[in-house]
Amino acid sequence: MDGPFGKAKAILTTLHNHGYEAYFVGGSVRDYLLNRPIGDIDIATSALPEQIMNIFPKTIDVGVIHGTVVVLHKDEQFEVTTFRTEEGYEDYRRPSHVEFVKSLHEDLKRRDFTMNAIAMTIDGDIIDPFGGKKAIEEKRIQTVGDPNERFHEDALRMMRAVRFVSQLPFLLCQETQSAITNNAPLLKKISVERITIEFEKLLSGPNCHVAFPILAETNLLQYMPGLENEKKNVKCFSAYKWNELKDRAEYWTLVSYLLKKDDLKTFLRQWKLPNKIIEQVVKNIGCLENVLNNGWNKQLLYDCGESCIKHVEKILGVLGIKQEISLYEEYCKLPIKHRSDLKITGADLLQWYKQSPGKWVSQLLEKVENSILENKVENNKEKIKEWLLSCNQK
Ligand code: ATP
Ligand code: MG
Repeated sequence: MDGPFGKAKAILTTLHNHGYEAYFVGGSVRDYLLNRPIGDIDIATSALPEQIMNIFPKTIDVGVIHGTVVVLHKDEQFEVTTFRTEEGYEDYRRPSHVEFVKSLHEDLKRRDFTMNAIAMTIDGDIIDPFGGKKAIEEKRIQTVGDPNERFHEDALRMMRAVRFVSQLPFLLCQETQSAITNNAPLLKKISVERITIEFEKLLSGPNCHVAFPILAETNLLQYMPGLENEKKNVKCFSAYKWNELKDRAEYWTLVSYLLKKDDLKTFLRQWKLPNKIIEQVVKNIGCLENVLNNGWNKQLLYDCGESCIKHVEKILGVLGIKQEISLYEEYCKLPIKHRSDLKITGADLLQWYKQSPGKWVSQLLEKVENSILENKVENNKEKIKEWLLSCNQK
């Protein structure tokens, strides 16, 4: 159990030497038991946040009132969280206050699913009071305790459940799935940002084709931004190979293309995506529709640019639309990729034509750009000058 836990062991040892209990917990233990690559390593301890900060020389206070301190050790970060329970859930979201507790058992009990409520000692011994290991063997997602209660405490857990279906890939146990169906409207209480994180993880999971119909059947869709009344469309999402996509903008381009939203920007803004992603998706959709409706040409490739062409080519593949040529290869062949690649500037034009500045400068630059793209003239200052003056292009 060395590997990824190797460095983290030192954190546990230090806590032990100071008389505290400390264990590996959460997703890292689950993924270790599943033989999956391990992401962030979470540590649970009986030490209080101030004690953790006193013991370790480098720490970051990321939420001491919730009991979490990040410990920096050998260039890596570990989230160290004091054993706690969560109480007084307000509004089906985060708890109104947390209470630090003495026992690991109580800490595991507040965790969402049995597979995530397993602890591991420094020697690799498993502490599993809720049957999480069996659930992992059976690839089953089941809440710790009554699912209705657990989803009332924190409605995001319903989204987490379905994203784990996509990611691990596991199935929901019947009771958990029914409880999601019964409590789906509680998702209204959850901030869009948290829903977006889970939805993006779902989109990038290997089993997303199983997760899409679950979103539809449980009615969670009704409470996801812009997906209300999209049951039929979202069920059809399962037909495509989402796993070939990588980039956030690619996922959102495929979502947007399949939903055919009239007001794309509003839809993407509803998800509170960064402007950069929204702009890229809008550009990708414009390019995709152009290619599908009118075919491609050099000007389109030039206007869209490298990342858009790469995304669009991938999406066409995922949609199963065969292209005779590779758009990206054609893009690479373009003699210029940006206006800044032009070997002349507006200043050159002013000098050659000896006229005062005006709109004509940018119009002429555009004409030069087009002609270079169409191989009518070489991208060389002298050649461009000759060509312009000889055929009186202005
Ligand atoms: P990932 O692979 O995405 O990191 P994870 O299960 O580790 O999955 P985290 O968000 O890193 O998810 O949370 C770490 C652990 O904290 C979880 O395994 C679970 O035990 C607990 N946890 C996280 N979110 C919740 C929640 N909403 N309710 C209860 N427990 C939670
Ligand atoms: Mg994690």
